[in-house]
Amino acid sequence: MKCSRCRKDAIYFQRQSGQYYCGDHFNTHFIKKFMRGVREEQLIKKNEKVAVAVSGGKDSITLAYLLKKLQLRYPFQMEAIIIDEGISGYRNLTLDAAKAQLERLEISYHIESFKDNFDKTLDIFVENNKENACSTCGVLRRYLLNKKARELSCTKLATGHNLDDEGQSVIMNLMRGDIIRFSRGQNYYKKISDKFVERIKPLRYFLEKEIVIFALNNKLIFDSSECPYAVYAMRGEVGKFLDKMEDLRPTTKYSLLSGYDKILPALNKCFIPESIGACKICGEPTMDGVCMGCKILGK
Ligand code: SF4
Ligand code: ZN
Repeated sequence: MKCSRCRKDAIYFQRQSGQYYCGDHFNTHFIKKFMRGVREEQLIKKNEKVAVAVSGGKDSITLAYLLKKLQLRYPFQMEAIIIDEGISGYRNLTLDAAKAQLERLEISYHIESFKDNFDKTLDIFVENNKENACSTCGVLRRYLLNKKARELSCTKLATGHNLDDEGQSVIMNLMRGDIIRFSRGQNYYKKISDKFVERIKPLRYFLEKEIVIFALNNKLIFDSSECPYAVYAMRGEVGKFLDKMEDLRPTTKYSLLSGYDKILPALNKCFIPESIGACKICGEPTMDGVCMGCKILGK
């Protein structure tokens, strides 16, 4: 098939719009959408310092690449943070990809490891409890990203979550009946405590498969290995369900997230307290007396 905008061969058919794209027009479309999103949602202000979380997978690598492009349009500072959870046979590969692409983009980076910060790798933490790997990993990774971004005096922390990730989270929180988490939204932490660096997710309205195409089309260095603990996560199954629904009805993922975004302010009001207490052990904000980080670390 030919591109809907020129005579070149198409590399992608966007089902939701009925458009065919050649490599060049796909790039133009993707970059335009990214720039428009950042501008309309005022995600990054002039001269701000932004930390970008980079894992070495397609999403965070694409995000770093696009933020670098954005820097050509208006001035802001950027530093990358790479978290090494200590997952053997997996993280070393993604880490190499992250370092190689960041060096190519001339973005300076900082590596923070679970081993250095918590004395143990994730593999050791979950030795006897692999089913809990993702929740342990998520809590400790978010903790380190926030801590490092704060140390670097960054006012935003950008992550590469895409439309698929976001839709999966909405469904998973509902399925678990975790209404507090369901009602939080991305800036919840910032609203309740100055200790949290504001998070931004500039790719949250981009389909995962379009990010893969963009990364390949621009020959970005990324690693597509799958984490060995992913098989224990509910996320994979929910992802398959959403893929099936998107197949039956293109725009399902988009409608799910935009619908969720519309009810979020009301959910916030109903279920989220205005302020919360501090952890008895570390002083970080928590609703439970002792924060999740301290519980995992067995303090
Ligand atoms: Fe961590 Fe789970 Fe992701 Fe693996 S799949 S990196 S354990 S959150
Ligand atoms: Zn074209």
